[in-house]
Amino acid sequence: AASRIARKVVLITGASSGIGKATAYELAEAAGGNIKLLLTARREEKLIEIKHDLEKLYKNSGIEVLPVKLDVSKTSEITKFYNDLPEVWKKVDILVNNAGMVHGIEQVGDIEQSDIDIMFQTNVIGLIAITQAFLGQMKSQNCGDIVMLGSIAGRNPYPGGGIYCATKAAVRSFTDTLRKETINKQIRVIEIDPGAVETEFSTVRFRGDTEKAKSVYRGGEPLNAKDIAELITFAVTRRQNTVVAETLVFPANQG
Ligand code: NDP
Repeated sequence: AASRIARKVVLITGASSGIGKATAYELAEAAGGNIKLLLTARREEKLIEIKHDLEKLYKNSGIEVLPVKLDVSKTSEITKFYNDLPEVWKKVDILVNNAGMVHGIEQVGDIEQSDIDIMFQTNVIGLIAITQAFLGQMKSQNCGDIVMLGSIAGRNPYPGGGIYCATKAAVRSFTDTLRKETINKQIRVIEIDPGAVETEFSTVRFRGDTEKAKSVYRGGEPLNAKDIAELITFAVTRRQNTVVAETLVFPANQG
C-alpha cells in the first residue's frame, strides 16, 4: 500500500502543528521518505523546522519539502500562492485540507463578528478556495485525493460552539457535493471527523490561555494528532477504487 503514495505531491494546509504536522510525518514514513510535501501555514518558521527535520530523517530517500507561508483565510493569498508555485508542485496528487480553528466559546448572542468572520473564512471559504485552485488539474489528470478535516462538531452541535459547528457542517455538506461531482473522475474525496484531539486547537479556542486549554482534557483521554494522521494515511493508501468517504473517530470516553 505504501508504494501507492511514493513520489506523490502532497499539499497540507495548517502543517505547522497538530494534525497537519503529524500527517506530514506519517505520510513521509509510509512512503519511505520518497514523497514531495508542500507544507503551508501562517507560521513559516515552524514549517522550515519541519522541513529540516524531515530531510534529516529521510536523507537520500528522495524526499522534497517545500514550506510556503499561506493564510487560507485570505482568498487573494491563495490565488497568488497557486500562481507562484513551480509547475511540478502545482500537480498535487493528495490535498489535505486541514487548516482550521475555533475562536471563543461564547453563545450565539455574544459572539463577536470578528470571530464569526475568521472561523468561516478559515474553515469554509479558505478550504473551498484551496480545493478550487487544485481541482482543475486533478480533473484533467483523472486522479487525486482530497482529504477534508471535518469534526464531530459538524454532526453534533453543542452550546457555545454555534459558529465552529456551523463551519464544520458546511465542510461536510460541501465535501458530499464534491464527492458526488468527482466520483467518475477518479478523484477520491475523503472526510475525517475527529472528536477531541489534543493539539494547539484548544489553546486557540481559549485565545491563548493554555491552562484553560488543558482543563478541557482533564479526566479524559483525548486522541493525539498521530491517531488522525494514521487514518488519513490509511485512506490515501487504499486501492484506487476504494473511497474511505467518511470516518467519525473519537476517544472512547467521548462516545
Ligand atoms: P492546531 O491548532 O494544532 O493546528 C491548526 C493548524 O491550522 C495550524 O497549523 C495552524 O497554523 C493552521 N491554521 C489556522 N488558521 C490558519 C489560517 N488562517 N491559514 C493557514 N493555516 C491556518 O489544531 P488541530 O491540528 O487540532 O486542527 C487541525 C484540523 O482538525 C482543524 O481543521 C480542526 O478544526 C480539526 N479538528 C480538530 C479537533 C481537535 O480536537 N483538535 C477535533 C475535530 C476537528 P498557523 O497558526 O501557523 O497558521
